[in-house]
Amino acid sequence: MLDIEKIRKEFPILETRVYNKPLVYLDNAATTQKPKCVIDAISDVYATINSNVHRGIHHLSQAATAAMEHSRDIVRRFIGAEHSHEIIFTRGTTESINLVASSFGETFLRKGDEIIVSVMEHHSNIVPWQLLCERKGVRLRVIPMTERCTLDIEKFRAMFTGRTRLVSVAHVSNVLGVTNPVKEIIEIAHGRDVPVLIDGAQSIPHTSIDVRELDADFFVFSGHKIYAPTGVGVLYGKEKWLNAMQPYHGGGEMIKSVRFENTTFNELPYKFEAGTPDYTGIIALGTALEWVNSLGIANIAAHEHALTKYAIKRLREIPGVRIFGEPDGAAVSFLTGEIHPSDTGTILDHLGIAVRTGHHCAQPLIEALKVPGTVRASFAVYNTREEIDAFIKGIERSIKMFS
Ligand code: PMP
Repeated sequence: MLDIEKIRKEFPILETRVYNKPLVYLDNAATTQKPKCVIDAISDVYATINSNVHRGIHHLSQAATAAMEHSRDIVRRFIGAEHSHEIIFTRGTTESINLVASSFGETFLRKGDEIIVSVMEHHSNIVPWQLLCERKGVRLRVIPMTERCTLDIEKFRAMFTGRTRLVSVAHVSNVLGVTNPVKEIIEIAHGRDVPVLIDGAQSIPHTSIDVRELDADFFVFSGHKIYAPTGVGVLYGKEKWLNAMQPYHGGGEMIKSVRFENTTFNELPYKFEAGTPDYTGIIALGTALEWVNSLGIANIAAHEHALTKYAIKRLREIPGVRIFGEPDGAAVSFLTGEIHPSDTGTILDHLGIAVRTGHHCAQPLIEALKVPGTVRASFAVYNTREEIDAFIKGIERSIKMFS
């Protein structure tokens, strides 16, 4: 059992008062708050070892490089990858998917080829593929949902053609908080020799990930959703794909030699890390993952699942509340009667309660649900049952005010 009160003390922002009320932060699917060790890691880099990585023979540069590469190994172990050079540091999930769309797309896709995504993807797992489709004459195919807001796996099975080249799906929906059967999806795709990208933005903070057990070809996530700073994320790719793929950005560090006649590229992972990386953020990402390890991801998940279950139970007790899908993760999306989600969000905000409202960067899913948007409450390890009680009281108050 985790000592949640002790954990809360590690998060300075949780002391904040909003409109003179204690902050209740239930917008963790958008970004998590940071523990003091992560905040300190950032200032420690600048106070002790700051120097550009990889290029220096002097002491500071070597120290910064070693700390960054140590982080790469922490990430490798965290997701069960075989090699550190299969871990590419990016700015986040969005950049990781754009990298694959661009580099995998340019290398392997031809006019008439097909990519499969699902209707419940975040825009960052839709638009990069649409841009690629426009550039290369590729077709995007979309896995629909069942009545129960799960991916329709039978329809997915039937979507493969001789031109299917990649499947790219979310591990956990950022709107519904529903976990997709990604292992089964990967098995089905591999049965057709098609590689799979898993968008792990919403699973990484709440699930133990083993990319080798999943047999994912690519797995992407953002640091800021797992207690690390903004501006840093990860692309895991199987060595065989990364080696075969063209570089993404050109610049320093990604080259072996540069001549005007011909330029040769560096080996993995540097081939995909052009320019000065956010080594400070990367080092702090390592700190965040070690912090998560110290609590145990299974303990974190158990606490969050209990909170989600409790929130769902309390929401179901309120007449007129409609929950979308069957959330099994750390988020729940709902509407209260005919009240517009942004009205509910505004009332909650005035009570110091932060939730997200609107389309959650998943407009096709919101359209499929035939609603103007939803209210989403999402949980992290520092949230408590008392906070959910305050949130439920806020919902009841908003219903009173609007009815
Ligand atoms: N995919 C999913 C499922 C997400 O929840 C998010 C963030 N809301 C993203 C992708 C994009 O992440 P980022 O903005 O950190 O790149």
